[in-house]
Amino acid sequence: MPARKQQTPLCDQFGFDAGWRSAQLKLIGLEEESRDTVRQLHREVLTAEASRDIVDRFYQRLLDDGRARALLESYDVNRLKVTQAAYLTDFGVDYRDAVYFETRARVGIAHARVGLPLALYLSAFGVMQTLILETLTQRVSDPERYHALCRLVLKLTTLDIAVATEVYHRASVLELDRSVKHLQLEQSLLRTQLQQDALTGVSSRTSLLAELEGAISRAAKTGQPLCIIMADLDNFKDINDTHGHMVGDKVLSEVGARIRAALREFDLVGRYGGEEFVVVLENTSRHTARQVAERIRKRIAGSPIKVGNLQLHLTISQGLAVRAESDDLHALLQRADDAMYEAKRAGRDCVAEAS
Ligand code: GH3
Ligand code: MG
Ligand code: MG
Repeated sequence: MPARKQQTPLCDQFGFDAGWRSAQLKLIGLEEESRDTVRQLHREVLTAEASRDIVDRFYQRLLDDGRARALLESYDVNRLKVTQAAYLTDFGVDYRDAVYFETRARVGIAHARVGLPLALYLSAFGVMQTLILETLTQRVSDPERYHALCRLVLKLTTLDIAVATEVYHRASVLELDRSVKHLQLEQSLLRTQLQQDALTGVSSRTSLLAELEGAISRAAKTGQPLCIIMADLDNFKDINDTHGHMVGDKVLSEVGARIRAALREFDLVGRYGGEEFVVVLENTSRHTARQVAERIRKRIAGSPIKVGNLQLHLTISQGLAVRAESDDLHALLQRADDAMYEAKRAGRDCVAEAS
C-alpha cells in the first residue's frame, strides 16, 4: 500500500518531529517492544468488557477526589467514559506512528485548555495504569507473559505522561508568547497615541516638549543654532462659530498636514495647544528659520482649505525665537509666544522675530 502522509498539526506545532519521537521511544525502551506484545495486551487484558470495567472504576476513583469531582461536574461523565474507552482501545496500537503522538497530544491539549491541573492529569494516568495492572494480574497467570505485559503497560503509560507533560508545557509557553505579543502590540499602540496628536497626526504636546528639551540640551552642547516657531491660526474661533466644531477639527487636521509639508524631514512639528503649533528647527540659523516660517505662512494662506463644499481662507501668525544661551524650555517657548502675539498685533498672517 502506498504510504499516505498523515496530518499531524499538533506534532508539527509542538515539535514532536520524527527525531523527537524516536528519541523518546528509545529512552523509554519502547523501540524494542513488538506489535505482538501489544496485540496480546489487547487480546488478554484490554478486552471490551475489561476496558468498560476499568473505565468505570477509573471514574469512581476520580469522583472520590474533591478537586476532580468539581471539574467533572460540568461534563457528561458517560460521554467522557466513551472517550476513555477509546483511549484504552488505542492504547499502544501503532505507537511508533506520528498519528499515535498526535492523538495523545490532542487529548493533552484538550485537558490543558479546560484548565485541568497538570498534577491531576498526571495522577489520572497513574490511576489508569494501576487499574490496567490490576486487571492484568487477574487475567494473566503465566509469569513470563505477565512480566512482558507489565513492562509494556509501564512503558506505554510513561510515553503518555511524557507527551502530556510536554503538551502542557508547550501550550503554556505558546499562551504566554501570545499574551506577550498582544501586550507588545498594545504597548506600541499606546506609545503612538502618546506621541501623536490624534486629531492632526503631528507630535503630541507631551512628545513635542520632550523632544524640544532634548534639542535644547543638544544645542547647548554643540553650540549649533536652534530655532523654534510658535504658530497660531488667525481668527480660528470664527470658523468654529460659523461652521461648527467638526469643520474646525477638519481645518486643524489640514493645517497640521500643511505645516508638516512645509518642513524638512528632520524638522519637528507638534500641537502645542488648541490651534497652536510649535515647530522645532535644530541646527538651523535664524535666516533659514525665517524662510521656513514664510513657507508655512504661504502654505496656509496660499490656497483655501476645502471641507465638503466649503472653501475656507485661513492665515497663521508666527513667532520665531532663536535659542539664547540663557534659555531653558520655558523661556524659549515664552519668547516665541511673545513674538507670535507681536505678529497678531502687526495685523496677523505674518512672522515676527523675538529679539
Ligand atoms: P487669534 O487670531 O487671536 O488667535 O484668534 P482666534 O480666534 O484664533 O483665537 P482664540 O484663542 O480666541 O480662539 C481659539 C479657538 O480655537 C477657540 C477654540 O474653540 C478653538 N479650538 C481649540 N482647540 C480646538 C479643537 O481641537 N477643535 C476645534 N474645532 N476648535 C478648537
Ligand atoms: Mg491660540
Ligand atoms: Mg488663534
